[in-house]
Amino acid sequence: MLTFPTAALLQAWERGHDASPGRRGLILLVLAHPDVPVALLENWSVGQRDAALLGLFERLFGGRLAAQAECPHCSAALQMDIPVAAVLAPVPELTSNRFVLEHAGYRLTYRLPTAGDLAALADPASVSRDDASSKWLLQQCLLGVSERDDAGSQDGDGSDPRESEPAGPVSIQDIPGEVIGALEASIASTASSLDPLAEIELKLDCPECAFCWQSPFDIVSFLWSELDAWAARMLREIHILASHYGWSEADIIALSPRRRLYYRGLIGI
Ligand SMILES: [Zn+2]
Repeated sequence: MLTFPTAALLQAWERGHDASPGRRGLILLVLAHPDVPVALLENWSVGQRDAALLGLFERLFGGRLAAQAECPHCSAALQMDIPVAAVLAPVPELTSNRFVLEHAGYRLTYRLPTAGDLAALADPASVSRDDASSKWLLQQCLLGVSERDDAGSQDGDGSDPRESEPAGPVSIQDIPGEVIGALEASIASTASSLDPLAEIELKLDCPECAFCWQSPFDIVSFLWSELDAWAARMLREIHILASHYGWSEADIIALSPRRRLYYRGLIGI
C-alpha cells in the first residue's frame, strides 16, 4: 500500500462504486497496468485479467487471501488463509483467440470471452438478465458460422485459424439449440485448458470434520471489497486531518501513509 498512488486508488474506487462486476474488473485492470492502453486491456482474456488482479492484490494488501468460509458438511466457520502464490497459475499466452468447432454439420468459429466483454455486460443481478447476459456473451464470442455440405457431423474442435474463416456475422437465434449447447461446452473446455485462471477454484479443508471441497473464488469481488474497506478508512482519515488542520483533500492525499499516521497520532485519534 505504501508505494501505490493514493489518488489513483481513490479514483478507481469512485469510478467502480456503482459499476457492474465486469466493469469493476476492467477498472481494476487499468489500475494494475496504467501503462497499457485500455483498448488492449479489453482484449485480455479473463484469466490474464485475473492473474493481473491477483498481482495487484498482492501489491496492495499483501500475499495472503484471508476470508471467512463455512464448511458445507458440518457448518463450522473457518478462517481461510491462502497464499496468493498458491492460486496464481501460469497463464499461457494466447497466440490467437480464434477457435473452430465442427458439430452436427455446422462449422463455428469462436473466441474466448475477454475482460472487455465482461465490462460491457449488463449487471447480471437478476436471473432473467443473467440469462440475457450469457446469450449476449455467447453472441460476442461467436465469430462466424457455416453449414457443411457433407453433413458428416464429425465432432471436434481445433485451434488452427487458417481453416476457419468466418462466413460472416450470424445470430445465435438462427442456430439449433443443440449446436449452441456444444458451442458453450467447447468455449468452457477451451477456456479451462488455455485460460485456467478464468475460473479459480480454491481447495479448502475443514479442520473440524476433515471435509475437503472446492470453492469458486472471484478475485474481482474479493479485491473490490478490500479496496472498498481501504477507501472508507482513507476518506475517514482525510476527514479527520482536514477537520483538524484545515488542509485540503489533495494536500492530505499527497502525504505519505507514514506522515498521515504520525499526524493522527499527534491529534490522538
Ligand atoms: Zn466441517
